[in-house]
Amino acid sequence: MGCALPKPARSRPNPTAPPERQGNNQPSNVHGYIPTQQGWPPWLMEVVGDAIQDWTPRRANTFEKLSKIGQGTYSNVYKARDLVSGKIVALKKVRFDHLEGESVKFMAREILVLKKLDHPNVVKLEGLVTSRICSSIYLVFEYMDHDLAGLVAGHGLNFTQPQIKCYMKQLLCGLEHCHSRGVLHRDIKGSNLLIDNQGILKIADFGLAAFYDSKQTRPMTNRVVTLWYRPPELLLGATFYGVGIDLWSAGCIFAELLAGKPIMPARTEVEQLHKIFKLCGSPSEDYWKKYRLQNATLYKPHHQYKRCILQTFKDFPSSSLPLIDTLLAIDPDHRGTTSAALNSQFFNTEPYACEPSCLPMYPPCKELDVKLRVKEARRQKALSGKAVAVMLQQELERLSALWPFQRSKQI
Ligand code: ADP
Ligand code: MG
Repeated sequence: MGCALPKPARSRPNPTAPPERQGNNQPSNVHGYIPTQQGWPPWLMEVVGDAIQDWTPRRANTFEKLSKIGQGTYSNVYKARDLVSGKIVALKKVRFDHLEGESVKFMAREILVLKKLDHPNVVKLEGLVTSRICSSIYLVFEYMDHDLAGLVAGHGLNFTQPQIKCYMKQLLCGLEHCHSRGVLHRDIKGSNLLIDNQGILKIADFGLAAFYDSKQTRPMTNRVVTLWYRPPELLLGATFYGVGIDLWSAGCIFAELLAGKPIMPARTEVEQLHKIFKLCGSPSEDYWKKYRLQNATLYKPHHQYKRCILQTFKDFPSSSLPLIDTLLAIDPDHRGTTSAALNSQFFNTEPYACEPSCLPMYPPCKELDVKLRVKEARRQKALSGKAVAVMLQQELERLSALWPFQRSKQI
């Protein structure tokens, strides 16, 4: 499997980086570290320790990379063939050249959390690959054909109610499992919800996940969740929070599936909050008093917005509205739980959820495919823009030849 050599070590000290990157005097072999008895790099044992003790590392040359299927902040994801079993897998390569300590942290978190989870609607981490030459780590996952962001972009408005119920049920079941094991995902969005050709949805990308304390005694960072799916309390600076974070994002996904497009796409945090208040209403005085949020004085709206979920989504099936209304509650304590959502009227009203195996088979489509298509369309547009400019120039020259006295004039 071909891969680039790591960049030379930089001088910036980094306590979580692999030892060879720190330029220290630890004993090292030609590739920068002496593997442990099981073959793990010691720095990896330090960060994920016991979690991987029952595994032995696979070597990178026992996989054949087929194509790149995803790109995130700290990783590249490849479709690959396991040359031992012949199985097609996804390899998530953690980019240590970029962000360094940060990517080690994301990767460690993802490994630790995934080793604690075991559910049909949560992606399964099958193993780890270490590459001596590249000093990089690959996470091995079962291969999934689609992600929900790609499906919404390609087929958004064609989802039927039974299909939407089927996707939502699986998302909520996966989340219910995470929450029951004390895990908050903290980045629920379409590109992190993978779907295979049997229609099974699996929650993926646990790089921002955290073990949480249901009593909320420990502060946590509010720099989590992708902007369009981020709940108001995080935008307002909350550091004590719980399952409500993921429930808000699930509510955004639910409405997105029904609308066929993201419901609150904003470019900045201020714009995001504004969109939330316009749709869900400004928080009440009780809310501000109850949560005493850091950014309250900065972002408390002057204008009092009325909640208008029911009017905005009046074309949605009526049984979906109470659930959307609950999940998109401004007060996180009013969003309920995944179990309550699964028992809601929406799932108990006809037409019922279809079986995953009855979902239509789509051609493979991921967020990366959509991004590449948009890029290509922009390139074509720019090219056609250039072509128009060339045509105009030619026309100008033709006209100038006919009327030489106008030559100095610009069209
Ligand atoms: P990041 O943290 O970099 O966002 P993700 O785990 O979300 O990494 O992966 C990025 C993209 O790669 C996903 O949005 C998805 O399209 C693709 N991908 C990730 N895991 C798999 C998998 N197991 N099978 C197929 N595609 C995957
Ligand atoms: Mg992701």
